[in-house]
Amino acid sequence: MSIETTRREFIAGALALASATGFGALPKIGVAKSKRWWKGNLHTHTFWSDGKAFPEEAIVWYKSRGWNFLGLSDHNIFQDNPDKWADVSGDARRKYFDTYLQAFPGAATRTNAAGRLEARLSTFAELSAKFNTPDEFLLVPDVEATRSVEFADGRFHQLHMNYVNVPELLPSIAAPGFSSTIKDKPLAAFLEEHRRETATLAAKHGRHEIFVLNHPIWTWYDVGPEVLIDAPDVRFFEICNGGSPYAPAEGLPSDGLDTDRLWDVVNAFRARRGMPLLYGIGTDDTHNYRGEKANMCIPGNAWILVKAESLDAGSLADAMYAGDFTACEGLEFDDVAFDRSKGRLEVTIGARDVPRTIRFIVSKRDFDERPVGKLTVRPAKHADTMRFQREIAIYDKKAGMAAKTVEVPAGRPMKASYTLADDDLYVRARVEEKGKTVSTAWLHPRGLRCAWTQPYRAC
Ligand SMILES: [Zn+2]
Ligand SMILES: [Zn+2]
Repeated sequence: MSIETTRREFIAGALALASATGFGALPKIGVAKSKRWWKGNLHTHTFWSDGKAFPEEAIVWYKSRGWNFLGLSDHNIFQDNPDKWADVSGDARRKYFDTYLQAFPGAATRTNAAGRLEARLSTFAELSAKFNTPDEFLLVPDVEATRSVEFADGRFHQLHMNYVNVPELLPSIAAPGFSSTIKDKPLAAFLEEHRRETATLAAKHGRHEIFVLNHPIWTWYDVGPEVLIDAPDVRFFEICNGGSPYAPAEGLPSDGLDTDRLWDVVNAFRARRGMPLLYGIGTDDTHNYRGEKANMCIPGNAWILVKAESLDAGSLADAMYAGDFTACEGLEFDDVAFDRSKGRLEVTIGARDVPRTIRFIVSKRDFDERPVGKLTVRPAKHADTMRFQREIAIYDKKAGMAAKTVEVPAGRPMKASYTLADDDLYVRARVEEKGKTVSTAWLHPRGLRCAWTQPYRAC
């Protein structure tokens, strides 16, 4: 399936869907998995914040290509205000608005006091009513809590957290005088504060929240593994984010700290301490829908497949807490099964026209918790500022090593498995193939398409 979209295709697709269906029941398109695997993206932006599309356009992009669920995760806002207007006067915005009007005629407009044209943005409730289709497509509530911490020494760390299935803005962010940046708070404590506040709000709504630490390495190693070790109730993070480049430093070892390394270091510590394991999701972090920036923040790069009973937010959340999902960047497992009593992970992948490599990755019980090295780094282009200075700890290779590698020839499907050894803390699998991804932002395994299972422990 081609997932690159030209602007013309985008408009044509939106028009075809709009006229064929009147936005009601859309035709079933291309859900390749068995009916229990649901495909979704939980990180998307629209004109409700800094995304460059009306929410309807974002939804049509995903729904028309077979995604089953979508979260519109705008920055520090939930789409519940029926009186929210977007300025569509500027040249670029005007063009977007004209395109939108072709597909969705009749948008409410007004001219504000400064004489600028504005269009009303549809709310979550309106969008859900328009686009949700049983067993086919579900819009889930989603917000990107967007915060940062400035430390006394000048360092600046972003902390972005998506929370899903909670239809309200966190009270701390909704409070008058809210500022997204605060001073001198340990990142783990700040992260945990948001997780706890989200859980409280979710309980008020009688919902099960999915709380995700986003793009830890963006902008510049902002969240190290230590933060997630110290905030063990944070269960999800982005192993793959389609929108977040970062500037690599000179002199860092190539396997020093990418999101795969970070994941294993966190889980080695958590597993040894009997804490819940961290699970990884893939997202687009969509901002650009029409090729504005061809290589990042565009739709169709990364997603999750969730094996759930039914397409409702509660079932999806339950399945995700159980680890019944995979993260995907241009590549998918056909099936994943973990036999807890035997400690056996089995993955199935379909035939593709290129060879693939499956790695079963474990952490060993006797890994050394003390870093084997520490580096003080700044990205070359910001070498003169403290803002980006980071202490990077390099950990023992026994936290995250390939215990078994299976090469899969082109054109062949494959089942592969690994059984936990006595000295393994957990196992996860990652499959990759050479090939272009939609996004080429630097948080990605460049030139590789990948899929990740979750880490699993024996009982
Ligand atoms: Zn973000
Ligand atoms: Zn984002």
